[in-house]
Amino acid sequence: MANVTRKYLIAGNWKMNKTASEGAELVQEINLALGKQTDVGVAVCPPFTALENCARSLEDSNIQLGAQNMYPKSEGAYTGEVSPVMLRSLFCTFVILGHSERREYFEEDDAFINEKVLAALQSSLKPILCVGETLEQREAGQTMEVVKKQLAGGLEGVKADHADNIVIAYEPVWAIGTGKTATPEMAQEVHKMIRDELVAFYGETAAEKIRILYGGSMKPENASELMDQADIDGGLIGGASLKAKSFIELVEIARAK
Ligand code: PEP
Repeated sequence: MANVTRKYLIAGNWKMNKTASEGAELVQEINLALGKQTDVGVAVCPPFTALENCARSLEDSNIQLGAQNMYPKSEGAYTGEVSPVMLRSLFCTFVILGHSERREYFEEDDAFINEKVLAALQSSLKPILCVGETLEQREAGQTMEVVKKQLAGGLEGVKADHADNIVIAYEPVWAIGTGKTATPEMAQEVHKMIRDELVAFYGETAAEKIRILYGGSMKPENASELMDQADIDGGLIGGASLKAKSFIELVEIARAK
């Protein structure tokens, strides 16, 4: 285990994949293999439309449920949006916020993402805050600066007593869905910087409890080396979370640490 104070978390981001019945099928398979273990935190984040079916399949399971987005209000005239209260009522524990696809395709900025982070915490949802640089930014030597800005912007106003309800996911944009993974050393360098920033925000004790996941083409073939790094506390998994076999394997790799 990278650190005794943190339990690994393997979270699947299904993105816009799986109907409600396909989702339930996938989750049942995962649950059969992993539903009773408690060594590693396991979460699946289906699309909104599959949450209810998945929640039913996960009753009495240790696998947790997360959503992929939310609107930062409890209710009201926001056609097409889904509130944190609604997600809690479907037994969601986590919500992915600030994913690079939402930053890029839906023009979400740090201020809006921050509103969501605060609203999620207010409703006892645990945000998985995604940060990460584009290829252009990496090549221009801006990685640290970009990630620091996203982190500070996303966490503005979050108090230290909420710190251990937060999960950070470092997801280099150039590694998402491309098959290119950051080397363990490249990832660790950024994870360490994130940990240092968290220490500056919340103090050492709180920062040591926050899980920092790596995301970007993580799969059974590369996960072990990534999770060997001191500040990599698991993964946010896209493509490899859509098949029970690879997702289960990833959890087993984390369990073996
Ligand atoms: C993601 O989008 O969160 C992700 C990590 O995707 P993939 O694993 O497919 O790169």
